[in-house]
Amino acid sequence: MNDHRSLKRREFLGRTTAAVAAGLAGRLFGKPLPARADRIDEAAAKVGRLPRRPLGYSRREVSLLVGSGDMASAPAEAAARCGVNYWHKANQWARDGAPAFILKNREAHLCQVTVDRIGGNHETGRIDEDAHVDFVKEMAKRTGLGYFDDMQFHYGYHNAREVKSDRGFVRAFERLKKEGLVRHLCLSQHGYAGSGRVKGGESAAEVLAAVVEDGLYEHAQFMYSYGQDAETAGFLSLARKKGFGTVAMKTSRGLGRMRQDKAFMAGLPVGTAPHNALVRWLTTATELDAAVIRVRNLDEFIETFSGAGKSLTAADARAIEMMTARADETACRLCTACQPHCPRSVPIADILRCERYALDDGDGEKARALYGGLYRRADACAACGTCLSHCPQGLPIPDRLAAVHRLLGGS
Ligand code: SF4
Ligand code: SF4
Repeated sequence: MNDHRSLKRREFLGRTTAAVAAGLAGRLFGKPLPARADRIDEAAAKVGRLPRRPLGYSRREVSLLVGSGDMASAPAEAAARCGVNYWHKANQWARDGAPAFILKNREAHLCQVTVDRIGGNHETGRIDEDAHVDFVKEMAKRTGLGYFDDMQFHYGYHNAREVKSDRGFVRAFERLKKEGLVRHLCLSQHGYAGSGRVKGGESAAEVLAAVVEDGLYEHAQFMYSYGQDAETAGFLSLARKKGFGTVAMKTSRGLGRMRQDKAFMAGLPVGTAPHNALVRWLTTATELDAAVIRVRNLDEFIETFSGAGKSLTAADARAIEMMTARADETACRLCTACQPHCPRSVPIADILRCERYALDDGDGEKARALYGGLYRRADACAACGTCLSHCPQGLPIPDRLAAVHRLLGGS
């Protein structure tokens, strides 16, 4: 007899309500779903303990995959149980406070506050020492964390000259450090070469090389994925030589589209899974210290995190080759090499980043919001073809731009 039939109606309703509250509704009358805590335990057991590596000048031991303040709560909790100890964008917890599993053991976790320019966006806004100090203080209170281990300059500098000429972010960090509210300085770096709104913008790799030589920042987050990228590879070698920390982001280039292509998935070598192969490659076959990878639920968490620190098998290596070839045909690596050559200053990389959010991350809302906020959209492209020869992937840029506009342009 099913559970509910043996209960008096009141007991049944009580149990039903409790089940709904616990997020277990949906299969109450069939085989019961395991409780949330059990599913988290099960996921953590499947993944196991994540290896750690020293990060940057501080040599702090950091898990090979790092967590994020915008991660869903179940995978975040499972990640913590597997030893994930670095939390990017921890200020995202400002609304409801940091998770209990972090607050209970605050010193065991490294929490990062992500700080944006003010008075505009990452292209038009300015570095403002006082505003950054106020923001970090407010976030330390609202998250309940009390302090942040890392203060990150979000989007980074526009060019190498700005690294030296505008020290406002560094001064804000030094003031907060004296008060015990932050400990290490880091940045995430996007590319600004050819940006129509940033005078003298340079690529992420050029700026990062200047940051490493400057010696004030401890580590950086930057876009990195499979495929040849000589400029970023050069920066990675420099970083490794100098002991500067490196964390890859936007790593799963084109993967969402591949997963939806049944023929592509069926052609992958037996026993491989795209995110698992990606993580094996990132954590054992590159010069990176760590990586951030978006996972939306416990299933994705298991597939992805279980690859951390494990060597690539021959089948995984073949899967990476196939993924690279497919991504090179479809998904922009956001290098900005094409942009300085566009006579109309079309923000090609930003537009194709929106495409990745929509088609690979399945986040149409974010993609539409970002696309709608761009100062120039894909319909500014005159299809002149000047950019084509500058793309290392040989992407059909005007065609891709037109497709993005059809997808996100709202007309
Ligand atoms: S094809 Fe479009 S994006 Fe490329 S250079 Fe010409 S106008 Fe710019
Ligand atoms: S379109 Fe090509 S050159 Fe332009 S940012 Fe993307 S990968 Fe780089």
